[in-house]
Amino acid sequence: MRITIDRDRCIGSGQCVMTAPGVFTQDDDALVDLVPGYEDGPGDPRVHDVPMACPVQAITVDED
Ligand code: SF4
Repeated sequence: MRITIDRDRCIGSGQCVMTAPGVFTQDDDALVDLVPGYEDGPGDPRVHDVPMACPVQAITVDED
């Protein structure tokens, strides 16, 4: 699995963190970031729901 985040698109709404808090986090400016060590979304099936949850399509999840 490969997770791509586009911080230039992110508006800091936080849906990604609410959907998969083990994988996504927000920095001090509320922009999306990946939890260190969890860039591949291991063990959290909710990761697949995140691209639809983000209001600005800032996240893509691709299966390798
Ligand atoms: S859901 Fe989208 S806009 Fe909101 S914090 Fe996450 S990446 Fe940014």
